[in-house]
Amino acid sequence: MKAAPFDYERPATLAGAADLLRRADGDAKVVAGGQSLGPMLNLRLTTPRLLVDVTGIPELRRATDEGDAVVIGACVTHADIEDGRVPDATRGIMSRVARGIAYRAVRNRGTVGGSLAHADPSADWPTCLAALGAEARLFGPNGTRSIPIAQFVSGVFETALAADEVLEAVRVPKLSARARWGFHKFCRKTGKFAEAMTAILWDPDRNVRRAAIGATDSRPIVIGDARDAMDRSRGGAFEDPLSEHAVATLLEGVGVGGDAYSRQIHVVSFRRALAQVQTP
Ligand code: FAD
Repeated sequence: MKAAPFDYERPATLAGAADLLRRADGDAKVVAGGQSLGPMLNLRLTTPRLLVDVTGIPELRRATDEGDAVVIGACVTHADIEDGRVPDATRGIMSRVARGIAYRAVRNRGTVGGSLAHADPSADWPTCLAALGAEARLFGPNGTRSIPIAQFVSGVFETALAADEVLEAVRVPKLSARARWGFHKFCRKTGKFAEAMTAILWDPDRNVRRAAIGATDSRPIVIGDARDAMDRSRGGAFEDPLSEHAVATLLEGVGVGGDAYSRQIHVVSFRRALAQVQTP
């Protein structure tokens, strides 16, 4: 099957992109790497009149150090992060996550912004960036607004983006020197989407103890204060990992549901991510 006919524009500015979207009155789609949108067009799951390609907008392709955060343009690719072409604010978690996304061919074209805007529940960036406390920066007719990733992704393939807004960038707070993280995803083989995913950030100097659980039946579930799970310290050292039963109870309490298999692999994923945080 082939895509239905559409017009194509490649504006050079954010204002130009937003203007094209506004004039299309909801009958346009932004395209970045095309890795998710391409198949959807070909299957005619979406039939926009206009595609607005945002990859020619220079500020969307770069990353900027803003002191306490790194702002990553929406069109930065997974491979850019994997290869260290953007400053690393996160002590390695983002390059680790990028490396595990699909295959290199997909990572060469797929973008952080595209992944967030697509909001597939089993995608890696929504969960990782929610755990990092990142914010999405949106550009629209009324200027720029920011929204935490945990709220930007509002459901399965749903976000806070309005039809005339472009996801401009994601602002990732820098981790402090003592910060530790864990990331684990369960997928059957490389290139398959995850069936369970956990990202955990322990950053005591910034008083952050956050966990995000992905590949759920909705948006990532964020445990803003996961102190109970990770801060059981004895004289500063971590205690033994939480028992399977304790993690199962914790996850049930925050709404991780599904059948017994699904609940169990989420428990395994959480414990493996937690073990990474706890292992110096
Ligand atoms: P596109 O396909 O261009 O766009 C996707 C959606 O986002 C569209 O609705 C589009 O309108 C919108 N959009 C894109 N950019 C913007 C923007 N700046 N502002 C507003 N809206 C925008 N992902 C994972 O996380 N983990 C995996 O393991 C994984 N495996 C994959 C395996 C395969 C074989 C394939 C094909 C994809 C896989 N993906 C995976 C998805 C991949 O990461 C995609 O790159 C990503 O989901 C979409 O990025 P894109 O830049 O290609 O976006």
